[in-house]
Amino acid sequence: MSEGSTPDDDGDRADDDGDRADDDSDRSSDDGDRSGDGDADEVGTVSLVGSGPGDPDLLTVKAVRLIESADVVLHDKLPGPEILGEIPAAKREDVGKRAGGEWTPQEYTNRRLVELAREGKSVVRLKGGDPFVFGRGGEEAEHLAAAGIPFEVVPGVTSAIAGPAVAGIPVTHRDHASSVSFVTGHEDPTKDESAVDWDALAATGGTIVVLMGVGKLPAYAAELRDAGLDGDTPVALVERATWPDMRVATGTLDTIVDVRDEAGIEPPAITVIGDVAATRNRVVDFLRNDGKRGEDA
Ligand code: SAH
Repeated sequence: MSEGSTPDDDGDRADDDGDRADDDSDRSSDDGDRSGDGDADEVGTVSLVGSGPGDPDLLTVKAVRLIESADVVLHDKLPGPEILGEIPAAKREDVGKRAGGEWTPQEYTNRRLVELAREGKSVVRLKGGDPFVFGRGGEEAEHLAAAGIPFEVVPGVTSAIAGPAVAGIPVTHRDHASSVSFVTGHEDPTKDESAVDWDALAATGGTIVVLMGVGKLPAYAAELRDAGLDGDTPVALVERATWPDMRVATGTLDTIVDVRDEAGIEPPAITVIGDVAATRNRVVDFLRNDGKRGEDA
C-alpha cells in the first residue's frame, strides 16, 4: 500500500498561505456576468461547490445547475471519476496533483479564481464532499472576499458522514454514541504541536471520524489506546465511499492496522472509530448499494 495519507491524496495543504495582499479590486455590488461571455467590465461570480463523496446522484440539484452553467470548473480528484467524467473537458481545470506528483499550490488556485472572475466568467470551484470540511474552502472564501469577488458557498454531502452511512454505519446512535468528532489524521500525533487532542477525543465516548487518516492510522490508534480506549473498540475503514470501486474493511482498534495492510486500503478513506462501527455487521446482509458499492475488502 502507499505510505498513506500523503497530502496529494488527502488535500491537506494547510501549510500553503494564500496570496491576497495584492488584490485591491473594487468590491462590485452587482452579481457579475453569469452568462459568461467574458465581458471583462463585469466581474464574474465564483461558487465554492461541494460535490458530495463521488456518486453523481449525491450531487445537490444546485451543484448540477451551477456546473452546467459554469464557464470554468476548477477541481481536484476528490469529486471522483464519475462526476468529473460528466463535465466537458473543455471547461475543466485540474488544480489537484500536477504531472510529476506535485500539488498545484493553493496560491495558484486562489489567484486563478480571482483572475477568471475578473474576466467575467462564472466559475465553479468544485470540491469533494463539503467545501468547508477540511477542504480549504474557507481560505478560498477569504481570498475572494479580500479581492472583492462575489462568491457563494454551496454545501455538499461530506464524506465524513456519507462514508460511514453508505457502509451501514450511523455516526450517532441512541444506544451507542451521542456525539461525533471529525478530525484530521494527517498530522503526526506524536508531535507536540499536534492540533488534535486524541486524549480528549477518547474521553468523549463518542464516535471519532478521521479524514486523511490512512497513513497515520498506526500512530493515532496507539494514541487512542494509550488514552484508555478499549482495544476491542470497533473500527471501520471506508475507501472511496460511493465510488464504483468503494470498499469497506472492519476490525478493532487492536486489529485495524493489520486489516488495513491486508486489504491494501489507500486514500481517500474514512476511519470510523467507536461502537457505532459495529452496526455494519448487524445490517450488512440487507444493505443494498448500487452495483459493487459497499463491497467488503
Ligand atoms: N471536503 C471533503 C474532505 C476533504 S479532506 C469532504 O467533506 O468530504 C480529504 C479527505 O476526505 C480524504 O483523505 C478522505 O479521508 C476523505 N474523503 C473524501 N472523499 C472521500 C470518499 N469518497 N471516500 C472516503 N473518504 C473520502
